[in-house]
Amino acid sequence: MRAAIFRRPGVIELGDLPVPVPGPGDLLVKVRAASVCGTDLRISKHGHFRIPEGTSRVLGHELTGEVVEAGAEVQGFAVGDRISVAPNVGCGRCAMCAKGLNQLCPDYEAFGITMNGGFAEYLLVPAIALERGNVFPVPDFLSDEVAAILEPMSCCLHGQRAIGVSAADSVLIIGAGPIGCFHTVLAKRAGARQVIVANTRQPRLDIAGRLGADELINVSEQDLHEEVMRLTDGQGVDVVITCVSKPEVIASATGLAGRLGRINVFSGLGDQARPQIDVNSLHYREQILTGTTGSSVTDYGDVIDIVATSDIDLSPIITSRFALEDIAAAMENSRSGQGMKSVIVFEEATR
Ligand SMILES: [Zn+2]
Ligand SMILES: [Zn+2]
Repeated sequence: MRAAIFRRPGVIELGDLPVPVPGPGDLLVKVRAASVCGTDLRISKHGHFRIPEGTSRVLGHELTGEVVEAGAEVQGFAVGDRISVAPNVGCGRCAMCAKGLNQLCPDYEAFGITMNGGFAEYLLVPAIALERGNVFPVPDFLSDEVAAILEPMSCCLHGQRAIGVSAADSVLIIGAGPIGCFHTVLAKRAGARQVIVANTRQPRLDIAGRLGADELINVSEQDLHEEVMRLTDGQGVDVVITCVSKPEVIASATGLAGRLGRINVFSGLGDQARPQIDVNSLHYREQILTGTTGSSVTDYGDVIDIVATSDIDLSPIITSRFALEDIAAAMENSRSGQGMKSVIVFEEATR
């Protein structure tokens, strides 16, 4: 089968791999769509501490596929089913897994990191992923591409659950990439009375506008703090979600939030970055500062339900489609920030 194979930092090669042979508890899945994530870009450039030197890996953890073989012991899934996967498979034994928080499991396995992922014609879904509830049927009316991009959206749902977005809230989302756009959709769906999105690029802001943002702030032309205060009668917003990996953006959040403001640090930072947080703002204005990472299998299932049972149209977030052969261009397109989500789409696969 054709596959894009990560060999070492900076090197992804197109090549042929044997089609995996499923064991009695496994599924063999023909991949239909796999989207490029920031995590794929980071691994392709810097590697990953869970991918030992000398190990080759197929990246890609946001995917939709069709079951083409099911082991004799598999229950609940059969040949012909369309599925997607929550990529992080918890160990099933630790305290975090016991609470259903598999995204915090220290001993996880993950598609596209410790196991091969979706940038190949076929994917082996091992028994542990089925046992831990990481495999989900895709409702008929969700396209392959939309189902593939629900993984990052589930992380956004997880982030918003930590700060409880509701109808009473004005919400500021800093960043209008795919993540900022998913947050926009979810905040609107939660009924937030005002959703403000800030970004440096107008084309991205325009997409956030199409997805329902009430106010757009182009921070390359306007002062973010000034605009937020103007839009909130000088009170600051109720919720700030930072979706930009810049220390100064995270440091600015306490000043943009009002009294009782809740802040979610959604994007992590490079190892060395330690933003200055104004703790007096937290103290005297009783603000809450949270961070979230990834999503649980519950969040993942819930986001499929949310999109399947509403008229949310995520198609503006998918801006480019590529064949597997053009993986380098797909990754470059994502890295450049030109478009939103780049999706690898598969024609009929040959074994
Ligand atoms: Zn991802
Ligand atoms: Zn665990």
